[in-house]
Amino acid sequence: MADRTLFQKIMDGELEGDIVYEDGSCAVLRDINPQAPTHLLVVPRKPIPSLDALTEEDEPLVGHLFVVARKIAAEAGLTGGYRTVFNNGEDANQTVDHIHLHVLGGRALGWPPG
Ligand code: AMP
Repeated sequence: MADRTLFQKIMDGELEGDIVYEDGSCAVLRDINPQAPTHLLVVPRKPIPSLDALTEEDEPLVGHLFVVARKIAAEAGLTGGYRTVFNNGEDANQTVDHIHLHVLGGRALGWPPG
């Protein structure tokens, strides 16, 4: 069996993490190195390594991640707007090989991103 990912270990309680929401298919963690006043990661329990590994079977799961992102953004009071991001691969600076939807807000976010 492949090694469990950092996010699996946090979701399983084996490593410390600030989990703010959980359901049967995903969890939301506070990013350890926040890039905005609110920086949350919506992580599926299924350890899909990257967007490149997505299959049609994952369509409902990925939709669910966005619905959870919308709910937690509302709970965090991000009424002025927020950004959702999946980094995929080296050029996008993906550093954890377990897909996660970044939710960033609480300040004006520049565009284009760096
Ligand atoms: P990415 O670069 O898109 O793969 O994003 C990985 C994110 O995980 C980064 O924003 C990191 O700051 C964050 N991260 C790394 N380790 C942890 C951890 N132990 N707990 C919470 N977030 C983490």
